[in-house]
Amino acid sequence: MARHGGRGWYGRMVAAAVGVTAVAAATSVWTAQAGQPGGGSASAGGSTGSVRHAAPRTATVSADIAHASEAGAHAVNITIDDGPDPVWTPQVLQVLRENGVKATFCMIGPQAQAHPDLVRQVVAAGHRLCDHTVSHDTTMDKKSEAYQSQEILKAQQQITQASGGVRPMYYRAPGGAFTPYSRHLAASHGMRPLGWNVDSKDFERPGTSAIVATVQREVANGPTILFHDAGGDRSQTVAALRTLLPWLKQQGYSFGFPVR
Ligand SMILES: [Zn+2]
Repeated sequence: MARHGGRGWYGRMVAAAVGVTAVAAATSVWTAQAGQPGGGSASAGGSTGSVRHAAPRTATVSADIAHASEAGAHAVNITIDDGPDPVWTPQVLQVLRENGVKATFCMIGPQAQAHPDLVRQVVAAGHRLCDHTVSHDTTMDKKSEAYQSQEILKAQQQITQASGGVRPMYYRAPGGAFTPYSRHLAASHGMRPLGWNVDSKDFERPGTSAIVATVQREVANGPTILFHDAGGDRSQTVAALRTLLPWLKQQGYSFGFPVR
């Protein structure tokens, strides 16, 4: 079983993400990806009709995988995965702050527990939290329900404790390894399953300009864009965001949070 901190799960996540991107490249219809990545139901309702208002605490939200933005049709959702990390999360926060952009941080439970100061900085800056499990096991869709439950709910607890009581509003399965069970479990604990439309491929470290070009090319695929602030040297991610955030604004995009 993959443990976070090992290198193996990044490789598997690359493989999973590549699959998703291939689907995204094949069709630029957002709703066609409503069941991607890894979702059981490919219902086209992911972006609109199924949104329910988030009541505080553990009110149930939709179990459909979210891709759309609360900020409307011409907004993007910046999502930052796998942290927090003491080196890279502060740099990502700084770029976001410089550009006045709010993002969604999908955190690994034990890393949140190890760096509660960073979790609190993320919350204090107005960003939102997302549960990205305990172990970042990209094969968790093949595991027992008990295992999936533990991975999701323990991380929720760790992140909430680290934040000082602010709960994650979303659940993103590692590598998109959602199951119908995990989506409904997360939703019943107030966390909307969260997908992505554009994989920046930043963790492959292809070079800053390649990350920029990927996002510029694929942003028409849909609003939710995936970056990483942990799992290795993320200097290319930081540099790419420094270019991309002003570029997105120039293109007329605003920035929002994923729907719940
Ligand atoms: Zn991840």
